[in-house]
Amino acid sequence: MHSLRYKTMKQANYIFITGGVVSSLGKGIISASIGKLLQARGYKVTIQKFDPYINIDPGTLNPYEHGECYVTADGMETDLDLGHYERFTGIHTTRHNSITTGRIYKTVIDRERHGDYLGKTIQVVPHITDEIKRRMLREDEPNENLDFVITEVGGTIGDIESAPFMEAIRQLRWELGRRAVCVHLTYVPYLKAADELKTKPTQHSVKELQGMGIQPDILVLRTERHLDDSMRMKVASFCNVDLECVVQSEDMPSIYEVPVSMQKQGLDAAIMRKIGIPVGETPAMTSWHDFLNKQRNAKREIHIGLVGKYDLQDAYKSIRESLILAGIYNDVKTRLHFINSEEITRDNVADKLAGMAGIIICPGFGHRGIEGKIIAAEHTRTHDIPTFGICLGMQMMVIEFARNVLGYADANSAEMNPDTPHNVIDMMEEQKTITQMGGTMRLGAYDCELIKGSRARKAYGDKPLISERHRHRYEFNNAYKTEFQQKGMQCVGINPAADLVEIVEIPDKRWYIGTQFHPEYSSTVLHPHPLFMDFIKTCVIC
Ligand code: GLN
Repeated sequence: MHSLRYKTMKQANYIFITGGVVSSLGKGIISASIGKLLQARGYKVTIQKFDPYINIDPGTLNPYEHGECYVTADGMETDLDLGHYERFTGIHTTRHNSITTGRIYKTVIDRERHGDYLGKTIQVVPHITDEIKRRMLREDEPNENLDFVITEVGGTIGDIESAPFMEAIRQLRWELGRRAVCVHLTYVPYLKAADELKTKPTQHSVKELQGMGIQPDILVLRTERHLDDSMRMKVASFCNVDLECVVQSEDMPSIYEVPVSMQKQGLDAAIMRKIGIPVGETPAMTSWHDFLNKQRNAKREIHIGLVGKYDLQDAYKSIRESLILAGIYNDVKTRLHFINSEEITRDNVADKLAGMAGIIICPGFGHRGIEGKIIAAEHTRTHDIPTFGICLGMQMMVIEFARNVLGYADANSAEMNPDTPHNVIDMMEEQKTITQMGGTMRLGAYDCELIKGSRARKAYGDKPLISERHRHRYEFNNAYKTEFQQKGMQCVGINPAADLVEIVEIPDKRWYIGTQFHPEYSSTVLHPHPLFMDFIKTCVIC
């Protein structure tokens, strides 16, 4: 064990976020909020997520299992919490910000096979915990010069599978002293019949943490009702935590209110005091407050339909947030409606899409629900309803156009029918020899040249070159490009290195654009994505 290795790093401070009682308390939002608050004080921050499952990354997980797969600019398929981190703070996360148990074990096992352990027995402690610590300390990124590393641990205290992470945190706290702070998020339920808020689950959860040798410094209590001081006092004294370090996270009308609520209760100041950093003045966070004021003042509503197959909020998380953010900057409340593409037929499409100011045709994989997406794309094209197709959504717009305008009734994607005679969407050349499924798609940011005069280029403020994130194996088949363009669907975004079509649009429609890339991954609170902005702006006018 190389115990003095952290000496080479700048003296970063480490904040560990754990969760207790139940899952889905919003640890990701609290982690992102802490990141935001420290960043507002001028600190250089990163936020990383450690997930206890065995998959190497969530890329192979069905969205029903784990929600959206978020993609970093450097092409890592990650947990959706990284989307919160980026949207709140604007930082670019990388492959080093999303770690799973599977990745930890793979590194250790690969090393063992390589003979690096020189005959030693490889054990959870110290070999697995050492690898966890190494990654928690971000030793693969030695030149980051960070002031704070925030590490969120997935799962709930007491889970068997997160025990090695807890042991790593226990050791790091001991080794780093005041430079490590533990924030534990728990739940305080309200029992209606007794008309009482109950702190016992929190006490048990903290005991569990203490049993692993970790004394939390700060407790964040999720609650649906306001907790008065006596309640906080009770938690403080039962859990050995200072009163000022017991903060509450009440239900908020929007997740973007959370940083402000945490700041009001002094969460960032409490962290700094624990570490021993002078607290100084509370930052004004003017642009964040301007954004919140816009959100509170937006009265008019617009309705946007998400045509997709995953009937689960988290499956299209970044798209949802991007639409909400773009709405706020256009002074409207965006109401999102999931429209299950498996249920869309020619007979009911008009009813299913009725009342929608705009339609998103969602990304996805596989055959299920695609015919409904194609019918929806035809309806919105022929009725000139603003439509934004993303990845698979763009591919479905292309197929619809091929079938109904170019006259190729059997047009399809090679993904759905490898033998289709009109493969207007085909597998990328580089993908044809790939047999491994995990992490092998075209992933991450690639350049895209925008054609002058196009709607897409205008949306980007007339920029000639952009860079956007991808996650796909199939692409627009260039053999059909001239035909599409002659009949009115233009290829207006091209990857210069591989000549791949990245954006299609029909210029004589109000807004009919499909992107092979995922703009939703790079839309943030302070910088909403230009395509979502332009789409919503058009929907508002229509
Ligand atoms: N299944 C399609 C492809 O692999 C689209 C992927 C997506 O929507 N992310 O190209």
